[in-house]
Amino acid sequence: MYFDAHCHLHEFDEEEIKSFKDFIIVAVADDLETSNKTLTLAQKHGNILPCIGIHPWVVDKTPMSHLRDLERLLANHEVAGIGEVGLDKKFVPNTYSRQLEFFKAFIKMAVDYDLPMNIHAPDAWRDVYELLIRHDVDKAVIHWYTGPLDLLEEIVGKGYYISINPAIELQKKHMRIAVEVDLRAMLVESDGPYEYRGLKLTPKMIPKLIALIADMRRIRVQELQSMVEMNFRRLFKKMSFA
Ligand SMILES: [Zn+2]
Repeated sequence: MYFDAHCHLHEFDEEEIKSFKDFIIVAVADDLETSNKTLTLAQKHGNILPCIGIHPWVVDKTPMSHLRDLERLLANHEVAGIGEVGLDKKFVPNTYSRQLEFFKAFIKMAVDYDLPMNIHAPDAWRDVYELLIRHDVDKAVIHWYTGPLDLLEEIVGKGYYISINPAIELQKKHMRIAVEVDLRAMLVESDGPYEYRGLKLTPKMIPKLIALIADMRRIRVQELQSMVEMNFRRLFKKMSFA
């Protein structure tokens, strides 16, 4: 069994989703519609941990009233986490103040419902970290972390997680994180089906990713695999899955 901490499962077709049966997948959503879709997928498949949220890339097109709709979903469904949510100063810096309004609302939901957050934070790494601390967020994973190494230590020190993406093959600064991060704070993810520099990401890349990280860190594949599994189960301990 492999553990994917961040995947846009709603973008895959039914046949592909069935082919992921050997993976426990944290399925993140991008908006209200895909939050609903992700919850439906989780009712059909036993290997999916559904998250709900609004991606920082779409906050400018999303009415604030959707926050109330999402909160209603939280109250009425078994939700594994809040995501994909966050702040992004790299790709969409122009909507930053609106992103902040949404992110703060999601922080409140995570705290109120005691749920892990699944976070996107390009070039807003420290802003995100400081908000998590200030609002006493207990559990969070910062996905595809490529931020500074000193901040990584602070993140790990607070008991938060980061997830490593198969893009390490192409992205040196992410590779560096995979080599340096304390293994007690490391998860792996696909972010599928996002395409990064021609690499179409899918959960099926995770076994190779684990092998590659183990090789770079000179530890046994099995040792790394059980470490990642333990971290994953600790983060999602409220959920029942195989
Ligand atoms: Zn994503």
